Amino acid sequence: MCGLVGVLNQEHLAAPDIYVALMAMQHRGKESARIVTASQGKLMPCGGMGEVAQAFSTLSMEAVPGTMGIGHVRYSTTGESSPENIQPLKGSFRGHDFYLAHNGNLVNTKALKAVLGWDGGSEASDTRVIVEMIAVSRAAAFEEALLETAAKLRGAFNLILLFENRIYALRDPFGFHPFQLGASSGNYVVASESHVFGLLGANLIRDIKNGEMLVIDQRGCENYQWAREPQLKFDIFEYIYFCHPGSTVHNANVGQARIWMGRFLAQEQPVEADVVMPVPDSGNFAASGYHRQRVEDGSKMRYEPYGLLRSHFAGRTFIEPVKERRKDYLPWLKHTPQSEVIRGQRVLLVDDSIVRGKTSRAISKMLLAAGAREVSWVVSSPMYLYPDFYGIDTYRERDELIAKQLNGDIAALKRNHGNLTHLGYLSLAATIQAVLKAAEPTTDLTKESFYTGPFTGDYPAGRGDFDNN
Ligand code: AMP
Repeated sequence: MCGLVGVLNQEHLAAPDIYVALMAMQHRGKESARIVTASQGKLMPCGGMGEVAQAFSTLSMEAVPGTMGIGHVRYSTTGESSPENIQPLKGSFRGHDFYLAHNGNLVNTKALKAVLGWDGGSEASDTRVIVEMIAVSRAAAFEEALLETAAKLRGAFNLILLFENRIYALRDPFGFHPFQLGASSGNYVVASESHVFGLLGANLIRDIKNGEMLVIDQRGCENYQWAREPQLKFDIFEYIYFCHPGSTVHNANVGQARIWMGRFLAQEQPVEADVVMPVPDSGNFAASGYHRQRVEDGSKMRYEPYGLLRSHFAGRTFIEPVKERRKDYLPWLKHTPQSEVIRGQRVLLVDDSIVRGKTSRAISKMLLAAGAREVSWVVSSPMYLYPDFYGIDTYRERDELIAKQLNGDIAALKRNHGNLTHLGYLSLAATIQAVLKAAEPTTDLTKESFYTGPFTGDYPAGRGDFDNN
């Protein structure tokens, strides 16, 4: 997953706005960050590896010229996490530089490399292939080269580009990931998530449509529907986990959708327990929805938002000096049980998903060791059984998907977690219904508008390069 932003301001510098937007989208990628601005006919990049604060640590954004620019935070799906792969990547079209950044994951990179007769080395990301295709295009104009390239891509690709005082923002025909347009008095912002607009004093105008391209310059914002048969298949995992809860995507507020997931979970999996608590922060909204619904249905269970504490300082950088025993320390560093709250209690945990089961297993054992009488789990999404190929990054962990490994056997999953008392998941129909409920009264989403691959094994853009996975 990654975060994209593009800013065009009438008067003030673009870099401070882009920096703040990238910080607000840090949850979408922590491996590297780069900003590119346009000033006096030149494109100027800055940034580096690591989180936003590290990537720009010695640079004042007030010193970066230009009222227009783009930025990216990276979470690598294909291609190494290395300085060469920091995005936006530079390319050249007819002797003029351009920069391009990508959110998503292509599934036909091998075939594209073969057509190009260019390999780029095994570390070359799918994004580098897109840059290369534009660079070698015979099209007369940049925009034509971009659209001709986009038509050949398969998979998930939100793209943002900067070329000669223009920003191009393009969404793939399935619209797998969010990409939105905001504006305030002549200034434009495009960003992966709408919660950044408020920070920049802008308002959400609309979602960029699947299969659409926006072109933004001093004259305004133009739009083209470039894909012939767009069919919305928005990644439901964005609502379940990835997006910031303050974002509103396709008119559904993400936090509200999670509360509805929790409410429906309470109806489908009404577990009896003394206390219910979220796995912070991913389970926060669903847990509060779950509790509200259970109480409305007559349960006396208590809600303990602080039964499990989360440290916000146990990041990658922090843990680096103790690489060797990282695995042993990490669960305890990230989550600490409050034994006063849980001792002797029947504890019910709510989280958004169980992927590899490492987090849930460590927490279950931790709570039992801290004196819980019983530990149960309810999960506010369906069983995670299939890999993802469109940018959530679990295809690397195909052998590690715990529910798949144990053939979806609930009894085996309970044993695997140190003997849980109950374990329950939300149905797919209710997960979708929760998003639609949050989007009332109007949305372009329907029951058919979602990509649900991890739960169903359905891949609307095919598996392509990952056919044997
Ligand atoms: P685990 O079961 O140990 O793989 O961890 C699952 C937890 O990690 C879930 O509760 C999510 O909050 C979070 N999660 C799910 N998918 C991802 C992902 N692609 N990247 C990072 N965290 C994720």
